[in-house]
Amino acid sequence: MSFATLGLSPALVRAVRDQGYHAPTPIQAAAIPVILAGQDVLGLAQTGSGKTAAYGLPLLQRVRAPQGGTRSVQALLLLPTRELVAQVGGVLSEFAQALPVRLKIAQAFGGVSINPQMMALRGGCDIMVATPGRLLDLIDHNALDLRSVEMLVLDEADRLLDLGFAEELQRILALLPARRQSLFFSATFPKAVQGLAEGLLHEPQRIEIAPEPQRSAAIVQRAIRVDESRRTPLLRHLLQTEAGWSRALVFVATRYATEHVSDKLWAHGLKAAALHGELSQGARSQVLAALRSGEIQVLVATDVAARGLDIAELPVVVNYDLPRSPADYTHRIGRTGRAGETGLAVSFVPASAEAHFRLIEKRQGQRVVREEVAGFAASPLSETQELALSQNGGIKGRRKSKKDKLREAAALAAEQAESGAQR
Ligand code: AMP
Repeated sequence: MSFATLGLSPALVRAVRDQGYHAPTPIQAAAIPVILAGQDVLGLAQTGSGKTAAYGLPLLQRVRAPQGGTRSVQALLLLPTRELVAQVGGVLSEFAQALPVRLKIAQAFGGVSINPQMMALRGGCDIMVATPGRLLDLIDHNALDLRSVEMLVLDEADRLLDLGFAEELQRILALLPARRQSLFFSATFPKAVQGLAEGLLHEPQRIEIAPEPQRSAAIVQRAIRVDESRRTPLLRHLLQTEAGWSRALVFVATRYATEHVSDKLWAHGLKAAALHGELSQGARSQVLAALRSGEIQVLVATDVAARGLDIAELPVVVNYDLPRSPADYTHRIGRTGRAGETGLAVSFVPASAEAHFRLIEKRQGQRVVREEVAGFAASPLSETQELALSQNGGIKGRRKSKKDKLREAAALAAEQAESGAQR
């Protein structure tokens, strides 16, 4: 199948060819004709599946020549993080250059001054790519009017809700005209997302792309049993000794840990930087650029980096701390092995996280062999602990610490929130 057979204009077909895309990905093949036909879409696709072009290309084709109305906007894209706004805005701007008309594509996200974004909106825009909070700020400043929106895209919808945007989303939705085309993409489908989708979409075409077997195979998963207190030395050891670890994204649980671990790596001569939600936009862009350019080798990040970020040629993702939910695991490891490259996802599994990792394996339907690296391993589980784990998913044979209990409760809550809803 080729892009030309999907109904895209010759200009956009040329644009995708210029990007080096030879054939549409499954989500692109399925979604592009439906969106071009004006239908609503509920898309379930894994991260890295080519979602951005799946909605971006037909959207660019459907947006009409610039309308130039004051404060008006034709197409609105909502995304959960500043990085995704910049990334998706960049992809759209690049494709838009191929069009015979000059479309105005604006980006809006928090963490930077609102004034330049307000200035950029003078005379309206054709496509607005925004995080919900900053979009509402712009509306409150009278810089934007959503009554002319004809197309709405919600990308990473589950994440939008995860990050507590539900109220903001409702406010935005209430400002949109009822007659519009809505496109809704989510890699996972918890109940809250389902509710939102039902209220939002009009007779949607449901497009669900199972993870491609070759995609999953493209990510090799490893799990290393490690003494909890030896995780940073183990990370250092792997970075220094394993072939192919030229660039690594390391996920930790807290902002503090991003800084602590990256400082420790620096102290041992490894070029590392921290990425978390409390950094300024400038600093976040800078560290991402430094990783992309090879200026740093390791980015130690919270889950703010787990979704959607496209770092080309990222060979390794490390779960220094396991993610809270199995869905986040999928998102995290999806940062590697993208667009046909082979990737490696390594999870550190201290004894206290064994039950949680088993839950992740169960959800993935895949068992990952536990390895040990000499000098870093935790003492092996006793037979009693092993038995208890296999019977009821919890560690017996030793008293559970408060931390164990909290971790288990969080895992259970995450599991329940998604239960029955994820496909
Ligand atoms: P996305 O899921 O939109 O973040 O895309 C993941 C990666 O796949 C990006 O690096 C895209 O540039 C790339 N990509 C998207 N569509 C295609 C395609 N049809 N052929 C090759 N690469 C693609």
